[in-house]
Amino acid sequence: MAKAVKKTLSAVEAMYGEDVFSLKTAKQYLSKKAFDSLSKTVNDGGAIDPAIATEVAKAMKDWAVAKGATHFCHWFQPLTGITAEKHDSFISPDGQGGVTLEFSAKELIQGEPDASSFPSGGLRATFEARGYTAWDPTSPAFLKEGEDGTTLCIPTIFCGYHGEALDKKTPLLRSSAALAKQMDRAGKLFGVKSVTKAYATLGPEQEYFLIDKSYYEQRLDLIQTGRTLFGLKPARHQQMEDHYFGAIRPRILAFMEDLDQALWKLGAPAKTRHNEVSPAQFELAPIYERLNLAVDHNLMCMELMKQIADKHGLVCLLHEKPFAGVNGSGKHNNWSVVGPDGKNWLYPGINPHENAKFLFTLCAIIKAVDTHADLLRASVASPGNDHRLGANEAPPAIISIFLGDQLNDIVEQIEQGAAKSTKSGGTITIGADVIPTIPRDATDRNRTSPFAFTGNKFEFRAVGSNMNPSAANVVLNTIVAEAIDAMATQLEADVKAKKDFNKSLQSILQEIIKKHKRVIFNGDNYTEDWHKEAEKRGLPNKKTTPEALKAYESEKAISLFEKYAVLSKKELLSRYEIYMHNYKSVVSYEAECARTIAATQILPAALEYQAGLAATMNAVAQAGGKANTAKEALGTVSELIDALAAGIKALEASIEGHDALKQKAAMVSTREAADALEAIVPADLWPLPTYAEMLFLY
Ligand code: ADP
Ligand code: MG
Repeated sequence: MAKAVKKTLSAVEAMYGEDVFSLKTAKQYLSKKAFDSLSKTVNDGGAIDPAIATEVAKAMKDWAVAKGATHFCHWFQPLTGITAEKHDSFISPDGQGGVTLEFSAKELIQGEPDASSFPSGGLRATFEARGYTAWDPTSPAFLKEGEDGTTLCIPTIFCGYHGEALDKKTPLLRSSAALAKQMDRAGKLFGVKSVTKAYATLGPEQEYFLIDKSYYEQRLDLIQTGRTLFGLKPARHQQMEDHYFGAIRPRILAFMEDLDQALWKLGAPAKTRHNEVSPAQFELAPIYERLNLAVDHNLMCMELMKQIADKHGLVCLLHEKPFAGVNGSGKHNNWSVVGPDGKNWLYPGINPHENAKFLFTLCAIIKAVDTHADLLRASVASPGNDHRLGANEAPPAIISIFLGDQLNDIVEQIEQGAAKSTKSGGTITIGADVIPTIPRDATDRNRTSPFAFTGNKFEFRAVGSNMNPSAANVVLNTIVAEAIDAMATQLEADVKAKKDFNKSLQSILQEIIKKHKRVIFNGDNYTEDWHKEAEKRGLPNKKTTPEALKAYESEKAISLFEKYAVLSKKELLSRYEIYMHNYKSVVSYEAECARTIAATQILPAALEYQAGLAATMNAVAQAGGKANTAKEALGTVSELIDALAAGIKALEASIEGHDALKQKAAMVSTREAADALEAIVPADLWPLPTYAEMLFLY
C-alpha cells in the first residue's frame, strides 16, 4: 500500500465529491431543462421525470466512462447483510466485431436482479423470483474504484413484483415522506415561510476495532462470526482509560487518512477521527446530512473501512462486541428534523416563536418515544447488539430519554402549567417566554442514556456498530410523524374554534408531559436502581432479540406503519420473520464455530498439557522426588478439561436441537472452561492469539 499522500486543503477541496455524479457535476453535462428537473427531484424526492431519463443516463455514462468506469451496478440494501450489487458492463456489440458503450434510461431507472436468494420473509413466491431495483435520485450515483476497475453505482430501492419492499431503503424513504407531510402541517400552524420540504438529518458516529490481520487469520471465530468466542481478558485492558482520545498510532493514522480521503472523494463528509475507550477501538464521525444520504454514506463508510484496513494489513471489526470484557461498538444515531422553513426544529432558539417550535418538537418526540419505546428497541435488536445493550458500558435495553437538568427544568415548568407562573422560578409561557439558551456541554454529560438530547438533536445510542441505521430511523421518523399528526390535529381544531394558539399549544404540551414523563430519566442508566425504577414506571426492558422483535408483530406496530404507509402488515411481518431467522442462524453458526474451536484447537492443547504433566509426575516419582505442584496442576487441568468436554457435548446437543437459548448457554459454559484453561495452559501450547496480542499489538 502506497503511503497516504498528505493533502493540502486545496487538494482536499479538489478531491471532495470527485467520484459523485452530484448536481454540481450534472450541471456540466445536462441541458438546463434536464438539470432543473433533476435538481427538483433530488430536493423533493420521488421518481425522475421519464422525459429526461435518457439524457441523464447518457450524461452519467459519459462522466463515468471518462473516469475509467467499465461497469455499472444497482446498489441496494437487502434485508440481511449491508449492501448488495450486481455489475453489468456498458458494452454493447456494434455488429462489426467491436463494441460501443451504452447505458440506457431503463438501465438507470430500473433493474431486475434475480431476487430468489435474497430473504423476503415469505413475501415473494419462488415463481415470482424477480425483484426490481429502482433508482433513488435523492442519493446520487457514485464511482467505486477497485484495484481492477471502476464501477458506476446507482443507489436503488429493491422491491418485489407487486412493489413489496424487500430492502431497508424503501421504508426509509416512505417514513421520510410521512414525517415531511406532518412537519408541513406543523409549519403551517406555526405560520412559517415554506422554503423546502421538511426532512430529518442524521450524523451517525461509527465505532470500530482494528486488529492486525495476522491474528485475525489465526482465529476461526473472527473469520466466521466477526467476534471472539473465546479469550481471557488480559491483565490490562481499558482500566487506565488512556486510550480514549489518546495519540493515534502512525499505522492507524495512515489508515484513517486513506479512509477520510476515500470518503471525501465520495462526497461523504468525514469529520472527526479518534481513539475510543477500548484498546484497538476507534471512531469516525461525519458531519450530518439529510437522513437518506447519511445512511448511504454510512454504509459506504463501513464497506471502505474493511477494504482500506485490509490494504494496511489490518482487519476492521464492526461487530458490536468483538471482545468480551471490554467496551463494544455502537453507532450513535444523531437525529434531528429540519422544518419547511429550512430550520432545525430541535434548536432551542432565541425568541419565543422559535422556542415554541422547539418545545412542540421536543414534546412530540417525548410522546413518540414513550408510546413506541418497544419499537425503538426492536429496531436495534440483533444477535451482536444483544452482547452490548444491557452490559455495563452500553445503554441498557430500557429506552428512556435524557434531557439534562436545564431542559428537564423547563419541561417541569410546562407540566405545572402557565397558571402558576406567578411564583418565582415560575413557569414558561409558550410563545411568550424565551427559554434560556442551553449550553451544549450541559446537555451531554450523561453517556449512559440510550436516547439523549444533545443541544440541537437527539442521539439514539443503542444502534449497533454493525447495523444499517435505516431501521432505527424508519421507526424514529414514523413515530414522530404520528405524534406530530396527533398534535397538529388538535391544534388545527383549536385554531378553527378560534382558540388562542399559544394557549392551546401550552395545554397540549402540558398534557403530553403529564402523560409521558415516565420515559424521561436524567440519572445513571447503568445502575440497578434505574432498572427497578423503570420497572415501576412500566417501561419495557427486552433483553434479547427475540423478545425485542415481538414489538414488530404487535397490533400497535401494524396499525402505525400501515397508517403512515411505511410498511404494510405483510411487509412488516415479513421483516419480523427475516430478523428472527437471522437471529437463529447467527446463534446457531456461532455455536457450531465454538464447538469446532473447542474440540479441535483448545481441547487438544489442554490434553497435551495434561499429558505433559502426567509424564512429569511419573518421571519425578521414578527419580524418587515429590511432584506436588505437577500433581495439583494435573488435578486442575483435568477438571477444566472435563468441563470443556461437557461444554462441547452441550454445544453438540443444542446444535442438534436447534435451540438458540441452549446454544447460547452452552457457548457460555464452554467459554468459561476454555478461558480458565487459557490462564494455565503454557502460552506456547495455546492455539489462539490472545486478547493482549490482538488488542495491543497493531
Ligand atoms: P456530540 O458532542 O454531542 O457528540 P458533535 O458535535 O460531536 O456532538 O456531533 C456528533 C454528531 O452529531 C456528528 O456526526 C454531527 O454531525 C451530528 N449532528 C450535529 N448536529 C446535528 C443535527 N442537527 N442533526 C443530526 N446530526 C447532527
Ligand atoms: Mg456523540
